[in-house]
Amino acid sequence: MRLMDDLNALYRTMGKRFGRGTIILLALTILVNLIAGPLPSAQAGDGHYSGKQGQILVVKVPADGGVTGVEGTFLGRSISFFPDTRPEETKGFVGLLGIDLQDEPGNHELTVKVQAEEQSQTFTYHVQVLKEDFHVERLTLPKNKVDLDKKSLARWKVEQAQVKEVLTNVSHTKFWQTGFVEPVAGKRTGIFGSVRIMNGQARNPHNGEDIGAPFGTDVAATNDGIVRLTVDHIFSGKGVFVDHGLGLYSMYFHLSEVLVKDGDVVQAGEIVGKVGATGRATGPHLHWGVKLNGARVNPYALLDLPFTRSVQSAAPVPTTDPGSGSGSPEP
Ligand SMILES: [Zn+2]
Repeated sequence: MRLMDDLNALYRTMGKRFGRGTIILLALTILVNLIAGPLPSAQAGDGHYSGKQGQILVVKVPADGGVTGVEGTFLGRSISFFPDTRPEETKGFVGLLGIDLQDEPGNHELTVKVQAEEQSQTFTYHVQVLKEDFHVERLTLPKNKVDLDKKSLARWKVEQAQVKEVLTNVSHTKFWQTGFVEPVAGKRTGIFGSVRIMNGQARNPHNGEDIGAPFGTDVAATNDGIVRLTVDHIFSGKGVFVDHGLGLYSMYFHLSEVLVKDGDVVQAGEIVGKVGATGRATGPHLHWGVKLNGARVNPYALLDLPFTRSVQSAAPVPTTDPGSGSGSPEP
């Protein structure tokens, strides 16, 4: 009964450390609880929670007044919490915990620090990471088709560094307000997390989802945010990186056209580019990727989050059969 232990500990320490006055009210109102998202993840009743690799867990810390900030740490990654403004929900803070597609299966600690003015309390919970059964593809190709030449390798390293620099920046404001939308209403290939083994060597897993759609189909931003980077990279081709704040980024690759520029403010459903096959792609498709506090998560997990949009923004619908969108050997 870890949760009850923590709560009891909180109540005990309130008397010792928090003193009298307004803060004491917190003892009656703070309840720390974790809620697994509506994704297929098990939730135990005693403060142990679990989710599969690539999923997002919704962590709720009910708090009523006095609490000025909540910050979590999971596997060395910071989890930013934001006030829960959903009208039907109890007051408190919400954090989105991304489980990286390669997080080690097993039990890991999530620590949550609740700050109330000058005082703070830290809680520890157990999150069980469950192994996802990702697709494994074995390919044998001529060596020159697999390995980058010297010049390309140097270019790729520069591009990787550029992307890393952008993605490690955490905006301390949450730019989005309501639900997420699908960037293209096409056919998902369902290969998020799949591992390609080329000539016996494991390559980086596929860190997004490929959506097949005809060349030129509009690609919409999944939610409000700021365009932080537009690229034309060796693997991802023409791409857009949108910062949604608090460490959440969405990426749109292989575009034929980019219709936004760095620094642009975009809204959910706003068109950021057109479907194409730039970079390493065998046919027109959108590679949609999401990074959450450094964790590579399944972008479709965003659509299942319990933050609904009252009027669902319609994603552009392809007019013809999308055809094959598979086969994009991202690094
Ligand atoms: Zn892809």
